[in-house]
Amino acid sequence: MTPADLAFDQHHIWHPYTSMSQPLPVYPVVAAAGCELQLADGRRLVDGMSSWWATIHGYNHPRLNQAMKQQIDNMSHVMFGGITHPPAVELCRKLVAMTPAPLECVFLADSGSVAVEVAMKMALQYWHARVEPRQRFLTFRNGYHGDTFGAMSVCDPENSMHSLWQGYLPENIFAPAPQCGFEDDWDEMDIVPFARLMAAHRHEIAAVILEPVVQGAGGMRFYHPEWLRRIRRMCDREGILLIADEIATGFGRTGKLFACEHAGIAPDILCLGKALTGGTMTLSATLATRNVAETISNGEAGCFMHGPTFMGNPLACAVASESLALLESGDWQHQVESIETRLREGLLPLVSGQQVADVRVLGAIGVVETHRPVNMAALQRFFVEHGVWIRPFGRLIYLMPPYVIEPEQLDKLIDAVSLAVENPDFFI
Ligand SMILES: *Cc1c(COP(=O)(O)O)cnc(C)c1O
Repeated sequence: MTPADLAFDQHHIWHPYTSMSQPLPVYPVVAAAGCELQLADGRRLVDGMSSWWATIHGYNHPRLNQAMKQQIDNMSHVMFGGITHPPAVELCRKLVAMTPAPLECVFLADSGSVAVEVAMKMALQYWHARVEPRQRFLTFRNGYHGDTFGAMSVCDPENSMHSLWQGYLPENIFAPAPQCGFEDDWDEMDIVPFARLMAAHRHEIAAVILEPVVQGAGGMRFYHPEWLRRIRRMCDREGILLIADEIATGFGRTGKLFACEHAGIAPDILCLGKALTGGTMTLSATLATRNVAETISNGEAGCFMHGPTFMGNPLACAVASESLALLESGDWQHQVESIETRLREGLLPLVSGQQVADVRVLGAIGVVETHRPVNMAALQRFFVEHGVWIRPFGRLIYLMPPYVIEPEQLDKLIDAVSLAVENPDFFI
């Protein structure tokens, strides 16, 4: 890539959550393999982000590439209305088998945000079909569920600037985020405000929507699994649906295949995305129980009212199936455990540092929370100079490497984070 290419990019191309008038620098990546990204100037960076939770098997995986090449030669795409195809059937069979038993009916869509829209629409249609329309969702503060309007309406109101969309965004019900951490003793008081909100709005709430155990982009917070058992029970008592958004946590990241397994519960609706295709293609899935699916289907509309153009894209389904096959035959559990052990050894001692407010590790996720927000551009440059790709935000520097990362590569990531938090210049 030439300087002119980069200048064009800065002037014409929007990146996630960036300004067009004061763009931050972007780094040109021309190739990626295993756990490394290759920059245009030849430098190689160890990847600490898995391209936002997705690339769990590493980049350029021969089996994933092969699955895509084979499918391209067969058929890259065909419409899903009135047509089915082997990659979709194979993938959905795997998804039904690997997710908790009551989840039986799969809706395939193209991104995580759309999977959340689909889940919310399912809940609304469910209550409409029961001739008891309900239109509100109960969720936690500090949540993140995506960037489309329905999803945004259940994201943390401050992080996602609900004030910008006032009057347009549906007003949902927000409980305080869980305070009781994953490893803390269970605190009965923690759930009281949530229980009160549910009781006060019990006839309005269509569903509770949450990220089980790990709140991702809304703060990288880990909470006690007992929360999920309690909420499952409360939802059952009131007949309220439970939507688990496992778009970030799904497929082993927290040490369980799905984070709901930490609590031994099953949701009524489950959203999957991100690592579904091993980080190769965009695809998501929303799974529902037979009861939810049948209630919707027997309602006034007579069907579920959604159907994206690229629904069930065969290429994406084929590579997702292969990614799940890698998980089935592979060593993910052992790999995630080893990463967790090394992250604990390397990151937990940082808690004594001046800049550091908290350090937490769960599965293949390591988080260093700082007192002050990071100077993004300066810290990003520092990490690149140290041969690692780590993308901090706000007061969070975090690692979620591919499961196949080598111990020396992981050490390189941990060392870079350790050096970074020692330098007060990186914090605003
Ligand atoms: C990333 C994410 C989404 C949105 O997925 P996109 O593919 O970015 O639309 C939704 N929920 C959670 C928990 C996520 O981490």
